[in-house]
Amino acid sequence: MIRHITPLRTRLVGLGARVQSKMVHHKVTIIGSGPAAHTAAIYLARAEMKPTLYEGMMANGIAAGGQLTTTTEIENFPGFPDALSGSELMERMRQQSAKFGTNIITETVSKVDLSSKPFKLWTEFNENSDPVTTDAIILATGASAKRMHLPGEETYWQRGISACAVCDGAVPIFRNKPLAVIGGGDSACEEAEFLTKYGSKVYILVRKDHFRASVIMQRRIEKNPNIIVLFNTVALEAKGDGKLLNVLRIKNVKTGVENDLEVNGLFYAIGHSPATGIVKGQVDEDETGYVQTVPGSSLTSVPGFFAAGDVQDSRYRQAVTSAGSGCIAALDAERYLTAQK
Ligand code: FAD
Ligand code: NDP
Repeated sequence: MIRHITPLRTRLVGLGARVQSKMVHHKVTIIGSGPAAHTAAIYLARAEMKPTLYEGMMANGIAAGGQLTTTTEIENFPGFPDALSGSELMERMRQQSAKFGTNIITETVSKVDLSSKPFKLWTEFNENSDPVTTDAIILATGASAKRMHLPGEETYWQRGISACAVCDGAVPIFRNKPLAVIGGGDSACEEAEFLTKYGSKVYILVRKDHFRASVIMQRRIEKNPNIIVLFNTVALEAKGDGKLLNVLRIKNVKTGVENDLEVNGLFYAIGHSPATGIVKGQVDEDETGYVQTVPGSSLTSVPGFFAAGDVQDSRYRQAVTSAGSGCIAALDAERYLTAQK
């Protein structure tokens, strides 16, 4: 973490597809470009299913390659004991997809119609022309952590402020330092507990006078002597020395009293937004807005439409779990397409 690194190089591959000829049909289409999308592509390409992958062009404000392009070192993806940058990991996955013959198109899918077979889709470059048709779709558009947009957040984002404790908690700037987590749900509790491995103490800032988290998580927090819960507390501003965060201005919403809380790390745990806009209302979602899949599979409420990665996973949200679910989606899609013959 620490700094925002340059997105993957702007790609020319697929730009020719901006001028869509009529009647373009793909057997299987993958939408997305993170670990889930590329793992699905590798499996489908090796199975000679000729997948087409729309990797997006700054879709949801994130470069092709997905969330990992917004971070630096990845230390927990198996196979890379010396770590590697998120962008390099995604570049390697992309190369592997292309090597086996995936048709990668650098466009953002802007609309999908799942109401009849074959499915139809449009990209931002062909919105007013004939749709592309496809027999099956794997949605792997990911998610993005909600941010608070506090004053000072832009300055200290990835310089003390993060939205992923599991990803960033172990970096040296947080070792034996006071840290804060914002949120009152299970993620906040889980992340606070995780961060006590690294920080000297961890504050949890809960905006209400009670947690939303499950009772079992609350009990674990209560028992941990290194966690201090501040109820009725909101953050007002992130401050630091210009390079790294060292203070959070906070306010008690009951008393109106404001304080400076000395912390070197601030972790948002206020929920994630799955990138489901293009299929809104066309496929079942769970109560938190994620695409609902049959547990242990990538099957959704629409036959032939599969979901993989963070867009269908509100709980684990890791590169390796996304890659695993991409594999599952490829095998499910292959089985579906084979049965259609
Ligand atoms: P994403 O990585 O979310 O990628 C989906 C991408 O698809 C989007 O970003 C976009 O480029 C593209 N897309 C979206 N919509 C469209 C569309 N309509 N058309 C075409 N393309 C589209 N996990 C770890 O395991 N280890 C870590 O160290 C780690 N560090 C992280 C650090 C940060 C700062 C963040 C934010 C996350 C980190 N994660 C880490 C979590 C990990 O990045 C995600 O779990 C993983 O990337 C999810 O993969 P995904 O394939 O579901 O999709
Ligand atoms: P949740 O939506 O459950 O909780 C979000 C929390 O953030 C709420 O307490 C909410 O406050 C707070 N919040 C939201 N916006 C703000 C804001 N602007 N300022 C301050 N606080 C804010 O998200 P989670 O990520 O915690 O959990 C998502 C799902 O994943 C849940 O179903 C959860 O059970 C599950 N999960 C389960 C785990 C486990 O079982 N081990 C671990 C992690 C997640 P308020 O309550 O006031 O609305």
